[in-house]
Amino acid sequence: MTSTQLATVTLRPQRPERNGHPWVYAGEIEQIPAGAEDGAVVRVADSRGRFLGMAYLNRASKITLRYLTARDESIDAAWWRSQVAASLARRRDLPRVDHTNALRLVNAEADGLPGLIVDRYAETLVVQFLALGLEPWRDTIVAALQELVAPASIFERSDVAVRGLEGLPERSGLLAGDEPPPLVEIYEGPARLLVDIRTGQKTGMYLDQRRNRAAAGSYARGARLLNCFAYSGAFGVHAGLAGAVEVVNADISAAACELAERNMALNGLAERHRAVEANCFDLLRSYSDAGERFDMVILDPPAFTKSRGAVEGALRGYKEINLRAMRLLSCGILVTCSCSQHIDDATFLEMLRAAARDARRDVRILEHRGQGPDHPMLLRAPETRYLICIIAEVM
Ligand code: SAH
Repeated sequence: MTSTQLATVTLRPQRPERNGHPWVYAGEIEQIPAGAEDGAVVRVADSRGRFLGMAYLNRASKITLRYLTARDESIDAAWWRSQVAASLARRRDLPRVDHTNALRLVNAEADGLPGLIVDRYAETLVVQFLALGLEPWRDTIVAALQELVAPASIFERSDVAVRGLEGLPERSGLLAGDEPPPLVEIYEGPARLLVDIRTGQKTGMYLDQRRNRAAAGSYARGARLLNCFAYSGAFGVHAGLAGAVEVVNADISAAACELAERNMALNGLAERHRAVEANCFDLLRSYSDAGERFDMVILDPPAFTKSRGAVEGALRGYKEINLRAMRLLSCGILVTCSCSQHIDDATFLEMLRAAARDARRDVRILEHRGQGPDHPMLLRAPETRYLICIIAEVM
């Protein structure tokens, strides 16, 4: 079907700042032709009938349209293949530059492939289909990945709640190739890490923190480190390899602590390591009440808010853990992160300032970092920037 035969969805006059955003919300739409099918590609026109782009339609989602392209072109298998190829080309040198075989190959909207995530862990690819509009193209995308990457297996991890917002069931399982091993071993710089792609968090690892783990490691020599919200201990492994004398990996999840133990052992760091299964809010409080001291504390909590409305409460949470971490540091390094997209840099720094005031500490910021280059962000879609990682000296 050529693009001119597709249904055209008409928008209301848009606020200027919404112009060019990859999403169109239900309230911005003037008219959807009755025959237009949810999940299908439609043409989008502005209130005066001018062509704006091609998008997927989903009436069941608040994000009713997701733009695929601003060009009047046909969306077919060749189009998908070329988008995937461009995404791979964008990262061509990254495995060598970062010395890794684990990275994000497709980062959804920011790579021009709305709702599609593809992560590589050694010879295994893990895919998430997060939009209804991707469903008709699943086989096309899998075939393109097989052809362009030739992995040993392609595994689906679309078992995430956001699928519900698209009216889709959660789904996971093998898509192509061999059943991957229960734990896939990858390398990330000098670190070897085991990744549970079947049931681990996200697609198995937090690849967005790769460069921040390396950066944090560079301050770890000789340090007693408390790594809070450690998951599989990846920050701890980097710090241990960089010469930390003691690493405490703390996480509320027993499975995470077990994986952290295995990862530290895999890197010959078992003797310097302790995994603590605990709520880090309580742990930080009890350590600070007990007058414990560390040379380095890492805080990499989950997003404390997924909505704009809950920012206040989230900031209280961030302030509490940062204040307590500062109290544990008498002249040491704090690595503090936020992956809440609704908390911007200025707000996060203001929270840190308040925490430092209450902890009676002076703080010198050494590095102000974000998500890695395999998690690019679109300037015109501010929500594609979400990760903050500050490395600071606490005095
Ligand atoms: N730093 C990790 C990623 C951390 S993700 C890395 O580089 O891979 C956040 C982690 O916080 C998850 O493993 C989750 O189990 C844990 N978590 C969530 N709430 C927690 C809490 N209150 N106390 C301790 N851990 C918590």
